[in-house]
Amino acid sequence: MDNNQIDNNDRKQTPERHSPNIFNFLIIGLILTFALNIMVSNRMANQKVQIEYSQFIQLVESDTVKQVQIETDQIALTLKPEADRAEVQRILGTEENTAEPAPQNRFQQMAEQARQNQVYYTGRIEDPGLTERLLAHDVAFYRPIVQNNPIMSFITSWIFPIVIFYVIYYFLMRSLSKRMGGAGGMGGLMNVGKSKAKFYDMEKNTGVTFNDVAGQDEAKESLTEMVDFLHSPEKYQEIGAVQPKGALLVGPPGTGKTLLAKAVAGEAKVPFFSISGSEFVEMYVGVGASRVRDLFEQAKKQAPCIIFIDEIDAIGKSRDNQLGSNDEREQTLNQLLSEMDGFDSSKGILILAATNRPEVLDKALLRPGRFDRRVIVEKPDLPGREAILAVHAKKVTLGADVNLRDIALATSGAAGADLANMVNEAAVRAVRLGRKEVLQEDLMEAVEVVIAGKEKKDRIMNAKEKRMVAFHEVGHALASALQKNSQPVQKITIVPRTMGSLGYTMNMPEEERYLLTKGELLARITTLLAGRAAEEVEFGEMSTGASNDIERATKLARTMVTQYGMSDKFGMMGLESTQNQYLDGRNVFTGSESTGAAVDGEVSKIIDGCHDEALKLLRENKDKLVEIAEFLVEKETITGEQFMEILNRNKNAAIA
Ligand code: ADP
Ligand code: MG
Ligand code: ZN
Repeated sequence: MDNNQIDNNDRKQTPERHSPNIFNFLIIGLILTFALNIMVSNRMANQKVQIEYSQFIQLVESDTVKQVQIETDQIALTLKPEADRAEVQRILGTEENTAEPAPQNRFQQMAEQARQNQVYYTGRIEDPGLTERLLAHDVAFYRPIVQNNPIMSFITSWIFPIVIFYVIYYFLMRSLSKRMGGAGGMGGLMNVGKSKAKFYDMEKNTGVTFNDVAGQDEAKESLTEMVDFLHSPEKYQEIGAVQPKGALLVGPPGTGKTLLAKAVAGEAKVPFFSISGSEFVEMYVGVGASRVRDLFEQAKKQAPCIIFIDEIDAIGKSRDNQLGSNDEREQTLNQLLSEMDGFDSSKGILILAATNRPEVLDKALLRPGRFDRRVIVEKPDLPGREAILAVHAKKVTLGADVNLRDIALATSGAAGADLANMVNEAAVRAVRLGRKEVLQEDLMEAVEVVIAGKEKKDRIMNAKEKRMVAFHEVGHALASALQKNSQPVQKITIVPRTMGSLGYTMNMPEEERYLLTKGELLARITTLLAGRAAEEVEFGEMSTGASNDIERATKLARTMVTQYGMSDKFGMMGLESTQNQYLDGRNVFTGSESTGAAVDGEVSKIIDGCHDEALKLLRENKDKLVEIAEFLVEKETITGEQFMEILNRNKNAAIA
């Protein structure tokens, strides 16, 4: 928040700070031009006095004119110094004291001089007899050849246009950069071209190791292999294995993705280049691409090393999902793709990238040879939270009464960053209260601050929600187990996830199935609807948590009717066709309107039947539902084996 404001102020001030300079420059330029202009023209003409044409003729006739200069539209004349002044004054009709004493002092001499150099001029009139008249009175006359002053013409033809173009450019760019929100106004803009400036970070040694990352054992395991690749590439080359080029760290914010990437570099003891994806996206097409090129060039010089691209979704967004495409981003992405293809991974460059929106990434980024490995970094479960708290608690002095497990129990849903923050808040509170060590009460207080402060942003569930989610998830698994008579899931957790639902069920890896029977499809729908059914059985209530289940169940039921020919009413009539199979795979209804309404009826019939079936299954097995769900509420995670163990224990008990 604060940061943003500072940014905004900067943006507003910068152009204004610059503009006085520009305008000073402009004004000085203009003044100079005019001054030169005046100086030059002054030399050619003293004071000028305009007279009538008839007066001009009279002056010529009276033989007082010395010289006449005929120009395109005017005639200028000077008088003979010895001319009779009284005569001149009579003709011009000016009253002047004729009895003027002879000039005495220097000032008067100058005035006299000026009078003699007086230039009179008059508009030029078509007068064919003029030449003859001038000749007759022995007046020197000429017409000057127009010759542009070289300084003036230089200024008008060179300097002026440049200044004007510069001003136009300046205003255009300023408004452009404002519109694009380019920070730093003018300064930022001028610097874009010279992108050699450091847009990435390079750490020779991050100093972070896997010990600094608590929990996340699975992630660490897959990354350990990467470290080994960097350490001893020969080992892999010998056998002919190609080193992976990159891995994508996927997970909600604050779970330690950046930390893990640094730890890989620290473990491998190689330099760590890091850059944020948004750094590549500039307002000028091509800048991002050249940055990618630069980055890889630098990295190649330092190999073995790690390149870490944080928030890669900023450039890696799928290219085909929008109408107005973004050229700059596409170019940058293409450059990244070709760089990734271009370098030889045996040189020991490993590219790590992090994102919390893997679903928007371009397919080309994920194909083998690029970010083909995906490391899931999830929100920590109970033991994970305890371990993370322990890592961060090492940095502060703990009192004797501290029990980190209790804190971990109270922080379901918190990510690593939240936990680190809590420990720090607790330490700050201890200092505020004048203590030398952190007590349990500080930690508990900090938990509340962090949780209450984030209530809306993050999903940290209250006890009732937690129970409801537990029953919902167990409902799914139990229905599945009862129908298929086999272990339904690998794992269920009710640690909320930003990316998915509140709870999370890791299903069994299914064998590839190309054919499904009608019975199996119905069982699937029943399983999907069993989450809601469990809520109804236990709480007599419904929650919003079933929306995704409902969507999927309905879609499945609909396909059964319109594409698989599995409804009583329509039999094998095809009612939908799939279009754009390789893009969005949308189904297009091909029947008439009235058929559409009837299809809805059929779909609703299937859904209702399956819902009833789910309710029946769970009611019959309510004791198991409750037992497993309560276990889950307490432990937050249940494995498939534990699930089956409880399920069968009950069965055996019932038989015995
Ligand atoms: P992400 O990149 O996933 O958004 P970070 O790696 O930036 O998250 O994590 C932010 C901070 O949270 C880290 O600097 C660290 O202090 C703390 N943290 C997060 N996860 C862990 C973890 N598993 N172990 C220890 N500390 C963690
Ligand atoms: Mg990060
Ligand atoms: Zn569900």
